[in-house]
Amino acid sequence: MEKVDCIVVGGGLAGLSAAYGLASEGLEVILIERGDYAGAKNVTGGRLYVSPIRDMYPELWEAAPFERPVTREFITLLNSGNATTIEFASDKFAAQPYQSYTVLRATLDLWLSEQVMEKGGMVITNQRVDELLMEDGKVIGIRAGEDEIGADMTIVAEGVLGLVSTKAGLRQKPSWKDHAVGFKETIELPQEVIESRWHLSPGQGAAHLFMGEVTKGMLGGGFLYTNKSSISFGIVLGMKDAKERADKIDVYTLLDDFKAHPHVAPLVAGGELLEYSAHVISEAGYAGIPQLYGDGYLLAGDTAGLALNQLYTVRGMDFAVASGYYAAKATLEAKQQGDLSAAGPMYEKMMRDTWVIKDLETAQHIPHFIENPRIFTHYPQSVGRIFERLFTLTSDPTEGIYHKVMGSVKQDFVNAKTVKELMGVRKI
Ligand SMILES: Cc1cc2nc3c(=O)[nH]c(=O)nc-3n(C[C@H](O)[C@H](O)[C@H](O)COP(=O)(O)OP(=O)(O)OC[C@H]3O[C@@H](n4cnc5c(N)ncnc54)[C@H](O)[C@@H]3O)c2cc1C
Repeated sequence: MEKVDCIVVGGGLAGLSAAYGLASEGLEVILIERGDYAGAKNVTGGRLYVSPIRDMYPELWEAAPFERPVTREFITLLNSGNATTIEFASDKFAAQPYQSYTVLRATLDLWLSEQVMEKGGMVITNQRVDELLMEDGKVIGIRAGEDEIGADMTIVAEGVLGLVSTKAGLRQKPSWKDHAVGFKETIELPQEVIESRWHLSPGQGAAHLFMGEVTKGMLGGGFLYTNKSSISFGIVLGMKDAKERADKIDVYTLLDDFKAHPHVAPLVAGGELLEYSAHVISEAGYAGIPQLYGDGYLLAGDTAGLALNQLYTVRGMDFAVASGYYAAKATLEAKQQGDLSAAGPMYEKMMRDTWVIKDLETAQHIPHFIENPRIFTHYPQSVGRIFERLFTLTSDPTEGIYHKVMGSVKQDFVNAKTVKELMGVRKI
């Protein structure tokens, strides 16, 4: 059996990051990706936070084919009769170095795979890894079709479903209850239309999140990210709610309803559908992280449950890059010490000592917090009612501002349920 230093399963951001780190230091690395090319099968909402990963491979982020830096944030509370939008722009976000960028994975992942190959790594596409080869509980390589390849270290970065790692018993079978499903359309729009609709200077970008009516009260929300000449537009829906509360709605139709919503339709008007995709995303957070290593292997990216829904933003790509980086770093250090079995504990320590696991731990109560349907119904509607009352004038004498606002606040916010929920907010 042919044998190399390291095999990486999966050419998403986690696998590519690991392969790049290993190849850069001269290790013999083979990355195997089932898609026609790296990125062909990969779906994301659209925003990569570069700040947390800037010091890992700085040369890559200088040159990467990003779409637009995110300089403007929008959050819309969407109801059936109204919409409240918070628009936030800061000089800090509009200045270099930019904190985050919108990305298209088909472009970014393909480019990263080219960087891996330039460093001497081998990227094999159109090839599915069928199983991990085991010997006395140790992962010793992979089988892909007829081919078996041995490796001193296997980094499994096969994404959220983790079929290969689950089959090998490296992690538990993922439960659908801890996952959400995302539906996304990439819609072409002229650059100047994008910049005018989201109040952007040329070349700059926006992240626009929606909650409320978009999921008909179910856990989840809508997203819209501006690319150079397209927008990434979609919804994410908790699978538990989709199954238990969807009232026979075919959940994919929610995306059409979202697009047709009177307060959303003008944003996508005139756009041409370029691509439709759907993908699963882990919502388990910190509780969903499996044992990150074992004999002969490391788990990285979504396979290691590293995704975070923080309500006002979604993260996973920065975790994927960071875990790939630390997987490579730990492997290299262990190899230098002449004891590859040290790589696993080193990898776990690097992940726990840095923002990667700490950020997931800090947010560990969010998955439970967002199980409350009132977050997606009562609160967006209550905020809408406050503004509707504030901006309404009739032929009757109007109330003072304080009475207008407090009338709604008392009705919707001063009650035992809200106070209890506010106590829960302290944990997130
Ligand atoms: C709708 C949606 C919106 C999101 N929005 C954001 C966002 O805005 N920002 C953010 O940071 N994160 C976001 N995420 C999360 C983010 O996309 C993921 O966390 C990230 O893509 C994980 O990267 P990965 O490399 O671990 O997995 P993936 O990108 O899924 O890569 C896994 C790779 O492994 C390959 N593969 C799988 N099985 C095999 C096999 N057996 N053999 C060979 N290859 C295999 C796949 O083809 C794929 O290329 C979103 C996710 C979804 C679904």
